[in-house]
Amino acid sequence: MTNFGRFFFDLLFPPACLICQKQGSFICASCQEKMSYLARQICPHCGKPSLTGQIHHDCQKGCFLDGLVSAFPYRPLFKEVIRQIKFEPFIFSALEELIINALGYFDREKQFLLFRRFVKQEHPVVIPIPLYKSKLRQRGFNQAQIIAQTVAGHYSLPLEEKLLFRVRPTRPQFQLEAKERRQNIKGAFSIDQERLGNCRQVLPPILLVDDIWTSGATIREACRVLKRAGIVKVWGLTLSQ
Ligand SMILES: [Zn+2]
Ligand SMILES: [Zn+2]
Repeated sequence: MTNFGRFFFDLLFPPACLICQKQGSFICASCQEKMSYLARQICPHCGKPSLTGQIHHDCQKGCFLDGLVSAFPYRPLFKEVIRQIKFEPFIFSALEELIINALGYFDREKQFLLFRRFVKQEHPVVIPIPLYKSKLRQRGFNQAQIIAQTVAGHYSLPLEEKLLFRVRPTRPQFQLEAKERRQNIKGAFSIDQERLGNCRQVLPPILLVDDIWTSGATIREACRVLKRAGIVKVWGLTLSQ
């Protein structure tokens, strides 16, 4: 949204906390406190604790993510905020506020040192997990895309929204068991080879962005496709896990 648009939006919908309705912001400081931040990160392959979110040394085989960072635990308060954010007109302003809180956490905590180094030194291309085109049309927006845009802006990173796409629709992952999730998502992504060819000779590292990591099946599958296309390094970023 432009600043001008934001001005009118705020006039029409003055921000009030989505949880306690206190005026001033969509997620007030005390509700953000209650929602809490993730105390520790996990290895994106085995799901066990990893100090920095980096994949364990012993887990590094195949086309796996090199690291993963998330800010909020996937608990009732966060779920409630996300549930409300999904309705317009909050999707842009309230979600942005949540992302900015998450980015503040990534910027100040020691556990994200390796992630910050990856961002600053390797300058990855930011890619949102895409929706299938009919689903995007039906919903009107892709949350992952909104998050990716804010993340790219915050770190001054390039954003690439067309390289990775869905080749077929999938069932909603939350309805499925872990094993079914992997089958459901397998082969769902593809890469625009022509766009990849336009990239520099050396393929850039990538930061894959999504809203929530549950089993991780979706981001893992997207990562597999990117790595098989020759991308060497891929980190993941989600708001919650
Ligand atoms: Zn509140
Ligand atoms: Zn591991």
